Amino acid sequence: MSFSDLQLSAPLLKAIKQQGYEQPSPIQEQAIPAVLRGDDVMAAAQTGTGKTAGFTLPILENLIDGPKAKGNQTRVLILTPTRELAAQVAANVATYSQYLPISSAVVFGGVKINPQMINLKKGVDILIATPGRLLDLHSQNAIRFKQLEVLVLDEADRMLDMGFLPDIRRIMKLLPKQRQNLLFSATFSPSIRALAKTIVNKPVEVSVAPANATAAKVKQWLCPVDKKAKSKVLAKLIHDRDWGQVLVFTRTKHGANRLTRELERHHIMATAIHGNKSQAARTRALAEFKQGEVQVLVATDIAARGLDIHQLPHVVNFDLPNVAADYVHRIGRTGRAGAEGEAVSLVCADELDELIDIERLIGRLLPREILPGFEPQQHLVETQLDSRPPRKKKPKKSSKPRSHKDGRSDQSASGNRRTAQHTAANSKKKSTGFLEGNSQGKLNGKPGEKPKSKRSCRPKKTADVNGNVKSSSRRTSAQQDSASQSPWGRRT
Ligand code: AMP
Repeated sequence: MSFSDLQLSAPLLKAIKQQGYEQPSPIQEQAIPAVLRGDDVMAAAQTGTGKTAGFTLPILENLIDGPKAKGNQTRVLILTPTRELAAQVAANVATYSQYLPISSAVVFGGVKINPQMINLKKGVDILIATPGRLLDLHSQNAIRFKQLEVLVLDEADRMLDMGFLPDIRRIMKLLPKQRQNLLFSATFSPSIRALAKTIVNKPVEVSVAPANATAAKVKQWLCPVDKKAKSKVLAKLIHDRDWGQVLVFTRTKHGANRLTRELERHHIMATAIHGNKSQAARTRALAEFKQGEVQVLVATDIAARGLDIHQLPHVVNFDLPNVAADYVHRIGRTGRAGAEGEAVSLVCADELDELIDIERLIGRLLPREILPGFEPQQHLVETQLDSRPPRKKKPKKSSKPRSHKDGRSDQSASGNRRTAQHTAANSKKKSTGFLEGNSQGKLNGKPGEKPKSKRSCRPKKTADVNGNVKSSSRRTSAQQDSASQSPWGRRT
């Protein structure tokens, strides 16, 4: 199939050709006709599949003939969980619409609101927004939805993960009932299906890969290594194997900063991108990485969400993620749109539980390669594939979730409460600002709850609000990073 078979107009075909796309990706083949027909769509598509063009191209086609957006109005609203993804989607919309008289704008938190308000005065045909800033703009009458025709929820799974459910519900109430709804998510977890029921209407379901399947063209392997040797091993891999552009994931912001300094000591240009950095610093770091001025970008999961770096060759998991699904998101950064890529995980003995979870989720064992000279002192136990499907939890029949000033949902708050209880009871680990910010203020373990003294290889698993299976005592990377993401608490 070619793009011209998809009934797209000449200005769109010209923009596509300019991008060098030869044929539609599988998600585009399925989604474009459905969106063009005006159907609601639910698409299970990871980042890297070409999903953005999958919804943007037919939306643009459908907008061509309609009336332009009036002052402070928009015709299409695209909601994204993070600023980086918003900026990325906006860049794609601008690229694909360059030969059309269709306007677009992007709004997100962490930057001044006034220029955004001025920008919206004339109205924009397509608005890309993060939920918190959109609500702020609406409360200041800078945006209205009378003319809204299409709603897109991009990376809906991550929106739930980040506690945006109350904001999404608030936004839904502001939109006209008659509209087209497109919901894109990496997985169709039970919580996503529950959300979808309240948003999409008789949707066409499209799916390009089984949920949580990792990109086929990505060579994945793991390097068993002692924790303290990880940065040396990474530096050696980069030097010896001549890796030009490397995206490295760490679990924490401090870990990202520390690693950046250590790489620089090994004469490797590196920069960090995470929620403690200003938007300007994050944008600059990304631009430097894309232009090749910086060889290594060290990122936390949430900051990396939405990064679109064309054909990124190497992804490194410096730490394994706490939530196995994040592994899939991480390696989705390489092998994008069919290109080949390599994803290596540096795994120490402490990370056995996370490794077991990941291998269970992706349905295979990761091949191992020990770097000569860096044989681990602490043996990483050989794993065996747990072939049971990842445990899924039915979404609770919750009472109407209450919202909080900081944008968290009761759902996420209760998740935190569970975590807090577990944490407090288990090990008296220091409590964090995130936990202390819990709406209920109940952070202590249940009276009489016994601490568990040892971590077993098969810890009790719980599912987060997204249906992801996780070990019970730790926060998700999204939660860790987004806790201090913006001056407005958890809003972006
Ligand atoms: P996305 O999944 O939307 O983040 O897109 C991933 C990458 O694939 C982006 O760099 C797009 O520019 C690229 N892309 C989108 N559609 C195609 C296509 N049909 N052929 C080749 N690359 C594409």
